[in-house]
Amino acid sequence: MIYADNAATTKISKSAADTMYSLMQETWGNPSSLYSFGQKAKEVLEKAREEIAAVIGADPKEIYFTSGGSEADNQAIRSAALLGAKKGKKHIISSAFEHHAVLHTLNKLEQEGFEVTLLDVHENGIVLPEQVEEAIREDTCLVTIMFANNEIGTIQPIRAIGEICRKKGVLFHTDAVQAVGHIPVNVRQDNIDLLSASAHKFHGPKGVGFLYAGKGIRLDSLIEGGAQERGKRAGTENVPGIAAMATALKEAAAGMEEKSARTKALRDLLIEGLRQIPHSALNGDAASRLPGNVNFCFEGIEGESLLLLLDDKGIQASSGSACTSGSLDPSHVLLAIGRVHDVAHGSLRLSIEDDLSEEEIGYIVQSVKEVVEYLRGFSPIWRDLMAGKKEFIL
Ligand SMILES: *Cc1c(COP(=O)(O)O)cnc(C)c1O
Repeated sequence: MIYADNAATTKISKSAADTMYSLMQETWGNPSSLYSFGQKAKEVLEKAREEIAAVIGADPKEIYFTSGGSEADNQAIRSAALLGAKKGKKHIISSAFEHHAVLHTLNKLEQEGFEVTLLDVHENGIVLPEQVEEAIREDTCLVTIMFANNEIGTIQPIRAIGEICRKKGVLFHTDAVQAVGHIPVNVRQDNIDLLSASAHKFHGPKGVGFLYAGKGIRLDSLIEGGAQERGKRAGTENVPGIAAMATALKEAAAGMEEKSARTKALRDLLIEGLRQIPHSALNGDAASRLPGNVNFCFEGIEGESLLLLLDDKGIQASSGSACTSGSLDPSHVLLAIGRVHDVAHGSLRLSIEDDLSEEEIGYIVQSVKEVVEYLRGFSPIWRDLMAGKKEFIL
């Protein structure tokens, strides 16, 4: 199997899985229990908090453990909205290509009386700091812009956007789920007030993540109950998962530079190969891009059939976000960068890491070429394009 869907999830690393297993076997006490066996689990929890904070340049007190990226996004945005509403500020700025964990939370807030401005991300999939500056109003309480897009991999000018927010006194949240563990992220240098991350996107376990909230930002809890996470997130902590997340993040941070260089070289080889396919185009900026992200549109085909045929050839890929597969709507991200429906339907996302060989990259290129040609062979849209009844866009 060639696994090329690391943006959907990654395999847990050996050391993270070992951390988890040993804690489940040996340190399974409740961290809220006062006896020493419980306090041992508490120590594990607080050590993980320190390690995670160190990687992103935060203070341990600014880290709150959650069930993953979605929960962290929900909590960050709701907390900032509530803080804003208390001051009569009910305007939020975001972008059109955020993850659904952000967009759907914003939809709900709109129903609750907030006003949301979604910024354009242009053809290259990048939000400009000037756009943010222009959109900020007297009543803006929050700007939420993702660090790197999960479908097209474009990296946003987060530091500059954060600087503008600081200057204007507006809270800044970033969904950094695709960035943390893959590219350098530092909450202080990057002027970030709130940040979401998820362990299973950097070789940690699924169902665990964290929210960074800068000192003085009062979080609102989504889950009521016990006083865990300083009263901001009730429920007995997932100690093995949290410790494994810390193990995975430390590992990712330590090897980041070398791994990223190797991954980028493979990515560029893959992009070069796929570019040879006629009437195809890379989606998103080629330079400001995650090391392992490749996203293409092929005119005249259907992304879903492409995926299934690639699966037959042992290649695991995606048409975009895992959340949109299974629905017939084209990706909101591809529509946001201006792809028309027909073209957006023919998309392919390959999110790779440095475990692949150059031969495997060659095999992916060859397989995609064959499958695209095959599908175009009986595509009515392709026939119309070839007959000149429709104009090629790509
Ligand atoms: C995967 C992902 C999420 C959701 O994270 P979960 O831990 O799966 O809830 C949110 N935002 C982005 C950008 C993602 O890629």
